Amino acid sequence: MLPSPEQYAAILDGAAAGGYAFPAINVTSSQTLNAALRGFAEAGSDGIVQVTVGGARYFSGAAGDGLTGARAFASLARELAAGYPAAIALHTDHCPPKDADSFLRPLLADSGDRVRRGEAPLFNSHMFDGSTLPLAENMRHSAELLDRCRRLGIVLEVECGVVGGEEDGIRGEGAGSERLYTTAEELLEVARALGIGDRGRYLLAATFGNVHGVYAPGHVKLRPEILADGQRALGQSHAGARFQYVFHGSSGSSPEELRAAVQNGVVKVNLDSEAQYAFTRAAAEHMVSNRDGVLAPEAALGDKSAYDPRSWGAKAEAAMAERVAQACEQLGSAGRSIAA
Ligand SMILES: [Zn+2]
Repeated sequence: MLPSPEQYAAILDGAAAGGYAFPAINVTSSQTLNAALRGFAEAGSDGIVQVTVGGARYFSGAAGDGLTGARAFASLARELAAGYPAAIALHTDHCPPKDADSFLRPLLADSGDRVRRGEAPLFNSHMFDGSTLPLAENMRHSAELLDRCRRLGIVLEVECGVVGGEEDGIRGEGAGSERLYTTAEELLEVARALGIGDRGRYLLAATFGNVHGVYAPGHVKLRPEILADGQRALGQSHAGARFQYVFHGSSGSSPEELRAAVQNGVVKVNLDSEAQYAFTRAAAEHMVSNRDGVLAPEAALGDKSAYDPRSWGAKAEAAMAERVAQACEQLGSAGRSIAA
């Protein structure tokens, strides 16, 4: 099923109150989408599937257009998730300011048309990533988008600070610098600009040393106490209010690091690299162990049961689904579904 705006809010609030988080899986194809859905179903967990602008562009095939791909993703996911025994929210990941007019705003316009027809919005949530802008300017754009999202029943994800590493061909500026670590004062500035839910519901990607991609142990210095400092500062200035945080770049994090982040109010954990790796590794194992069948000089000399894309695709999807289900276990969302 796809969650309504009210159900999505209940899913996020349940995580915040219950001290667990939901994985948000980046997908770029029908195969990776099916793998994510299967992983959530196996874990009995609600979940989030998401596309970046570049992932959506890939999804669009020859059209080479992110907007087309995002619409196609939403249609396909809506059809496939309808039969699933868990709630699957649809989200668009990192949208930098340069893509807002060609990607984010047209998708919001689509949702506007749908809502006026009495339907659900096209997506449950969207991320606007203004982290390359000065914070005040980032928040000006974010506030304007939040107002629009609020009227459509859509949750807006915003970013404060810079996630290091590289995702979708975009490198975080200033990796290795203090910008990888948000300050409590900056987090309060977000609350001043966007409210505490009264002006629309938002998720906050607050950076605490997180980096996109997978690195050798010790490369990344996570400081989840930054998230706790932000909660304390917000609670003092806004009577008990709490941020709902998003953890970007979770791949390569230890179970202890994930637990610390979730304890400090992370409700959505993006998982990309490790899911990609699980998918591709299983496909590669198939190719290696069926070398002659798939690398024959012509189809008649090969092994159809080995080169049929379904044969390796099913293995790749099963492996990625297993990684997704594992993420549900680690984050505590396994067995938690509003559909149950
Ligand atoms: Zn990210």
